[in-house]
Amino acid sequence: MSTRPPVHVSEAEMAVQRDSMCRIAEMPHRPQTYHVVTYGCQMNAHDSEKLAGMLEQMGLTAAPDREEADFVIFNTCCVRDNAERRALGNVTWLKEIRKVRPEMMIAVCGCMIQEPGMAERILKQYPFVDLAFGTANLHRFPSLFERVLTDRQRVVSIDGDDVIAEDVPVRRLRGDAAYLTIMYGCDNFCSYCIVPYVRGRERSRRMADILREAEALRDTGVKEIMLLGQNVNSYRGEDGEGFPQLLRAVDALGIERIRFMTSHPKDLSDDLIAAMAECEHVLPQFHLPVQAGNDDILRRMNRRYTRAEYLDKVRRLREAVPGIGLTTDIIVGFPGETEAQFADTLSLVDEVGYDSAFTFIYSPRTGTAAAKMPDQIPAEVSTERIQRLIALQEKRQREQMTRFVGQEEKVLVEGLSRRSDRQVSGKGGHGISVTFPGNEKDIGQIVPVRITGLKNNTLSAERKES
Ligand code: SF4
Repeated sequence: MSTRPPVHVSEAEMAVQRDSMCRIAEMPHRPQTYHVVTYGCQMNAHDSEKLAGMLEQMGLTAAPDREEADFVIFNTCCVRDNAERRALGNVTWLKEIRKVRPEMMIAVCGCMIQEPGMAERILKQYPFVDLAFGTANLHRFPSLFERVLTDRQRVVSIDGDDVIAEDVPVRRLRGDAAYLTIMYGCDNFCSYCIVPYVRGRERSRRMADILREAEALRDTGVKEIMLLGQNVNSYRGEDGEGFPQLLRAVDALGIERIRFMTSHPKDLSDDLIAAMAECEHVLPQFHLPVQAGNDDILRRMNRRYTRAEYLDKVRRLREAVPGIGLTTDIIVGFPGETEAQFADTLSLVDEVGYDSAFTFIYSPRTGTAAAKMPDQIPAEVSTERIQRLIALQEKRQREQMTRFVGQEEKVLVEGLSRRSDRQVSGKGGHGISVTFPGNEKDIGQIVPVRITGLKNNTLSAERKES
């Protein structure tokens, strides 16, 4: 847990950014429309909402397609190699469109830019990119963009401290549910993970700032907030408040539904489990990434918990919050993973019975400890293992989901079902997708339902008579 006080961007610096936004808005020949392409996690999705918020203050409006936009921003992710390749592939593809529309401007930002050597690579190999900036400079986007527009020169900005910027404009994608970042960065240095290198050290927002934002969201009719951080359990407010204390304070605001992610198992405290059980609005769901079920692999991953400790936390969570929805992340094919060690991961998945699992093949990231480890696993071995893992997880998921049949749930409707426009779908309180008869009017509403069965990996339901 970080003990350094976080550095907040000064009000004077934020005023500089606001001035830039005003000047851009008044420029006669600036781009009129924008499109943000987002890769990666919820943190990135929320950063894209901030980029959109700033662009709208500059007078630009959202274009539905990137091909039609005057200005396209790629908000990248570098957690896995394929996300990076996809982002670079799409940037290259836009180069062709720019031949037809030479006035189109292109920016690349996010974690990938913060990787060692990436900014130089962008400069050299992607001469059609006008602006590149890292996560540390997100709040400085207006002044960087103004430089590009006024000097007509490419700008690359990756330097910057691990800071917290308050009051960055946000254009939220949904009116009913909102992301709320509580902390940034990570100090854990799991041996496979690049996040601490690209997102910086842990730093927490002031509790008063978080509560102010949560209250404002509640007052605009937001029904669900997701508290975000690379490791929310490491939250440390300026007066030493921990995450359970923050959770209780947010709960007291009366927002209907509260979720959070991500939690590191080693930092999951008894007090947080107690807060989960106590808080009326905190949903009965928990994302607890296990990554592997074998102690030697966990040690080499630098996860700092054992299989037994993890299972004990799962047991305590289930005791405190019966029926809790449990989800996880698992990496297959970590360097040196033997068949027997992989079998331990399978047996853990079987034992826990997750409601959902995000499974990944290990992807070496330059600069991390694991990338230098011997015995990297051949792709065909990892592929075969992940298929077995997915098959087991799907079986266990179906078995787990039967516990909801006959029960009542409250579903926040996200949209029409992909299969039928007479059905709507959304997430129940346990975090599982539920589909039931409905129409567009239900979108954004919390609807009480009774679970009637399961189809594929979603629950089917009927509306509950009120
Ligand atoms: S806890 Fe580990 S996996 Fe998660 S962001 Fe930090 S270093 Fe990466």
